[in-house]
Amino acid sequence: MPIPRRYTTDAIVLSRFDYGEADRILTLITPGEGKIKAIAKGIRRQKSRIGGSLEPFAELQLLLARGRTFDIVSQVSIVSPWLRLRDDLVSFGTASYLAELVSGTVEERHPSEGLYLLLKRAYEILDAGMAPGRVARWFEMHLAEELGVRPEVDRCVECGRLLEADERYRWVPPLGGVLCERCPGPPQERVALSLEGLKLLKAYQRMDVEALATLRVRPAVEREIEAAMREFLAYSLDRKPRSLAFLDEVRAGHPAPQPVG
Ligand SMILES: [Zn+2]
Repeated sequence: MPIPRRYTTDAIVLSRFDYGEADRILTLITPGEGKIKAIAKGIRRQKSRIGGSLEPFAELQLLLARGRTFDIVSQVSIVSPWLRLRDDLVSFGTASYLAELVSGTVEERHPSEGLYLLLKRAYEILDAGMAPGRVARWFEMHLAEELGVRPEVDRCVECGRLLEADERYRWVPPLGGVLCERCPGPPQERVALSLEGLKLLKAYQRMDVEALATLRVRPAVEREIEAAMREFLAYSLDRKPRSLAFLDEVRAGHPAPQPVG
C-alpha cells in the first residue's frame, strides 16, 4: 500500500525557528512517527490562519502533507494548550529542558509512543502546578528507562550484590548506578549519595507521579538527587542540555533571554 500523502497526527512542538520571510520550521514529537520536522508556511503573516496555535509545549492535532525535506502543516487544532506551565519561568524553563531532552534522544521517523506519552504527562502535571523539580526528576528517570538505560539503584553495578541498608556505597554515573563498598570502581567520577538520596531515587523509579507530588523531602536531598541525575544523564545520553543554563539562571533569580520562541 502506498504511504498516504496527507496524514493527521497528535504532536507536541519541541522547538521552532523562523525561516525565510514568513515561514517557521517546527521540530515536533508525534506518537507514530517520532520526531519530525515540519514547515508552517506564511505563519508569520498577520492573516495566517494557523499563526498563534503553533506554540511550543502545547498538544496539537495536525494535518500534515509529506514533503521532501519538511512535512507541510496544513491544519492545526489545539488539544491541550497547557497555558499555566508558561506563566512561571521555572516551570517554563523546565518544559524547555524536557523538550530538549526529548529532541536530543528521539529518532526521526521512528515510532515513539512511550516517550510521547511521557512528555505529555510531564506537561500535564507541570501545568497542574506540581513542583517543577519533581516533574523533571520523574521525567529523567522514566526517560532513561524508555531509552533502556535505567539507573541501577538496588544492586551494585559491579558485583550485582543487593545493597544493605547500613553499608556505604557510591553513585558512579559512568557505570550506570550504585557501587558497593567492596568494589573499587573508577577512582574519580563518583558522586556522594546519602541513604535518603538513594531512597528518593528508588521512589522516582517506583512511585506513581501523584504519590511523588506529596512526598516530603529535605531540600538538600532534592539538590543531591538533581546533581546525581544530571551527572547520570550526561554520561548515559552523552549530552548536556543547553536549556539547563537558562533554568539554573532563572532559579538563581537572573534569567537570561529565553532560549525557545
Ligand atoms: Zn560490588
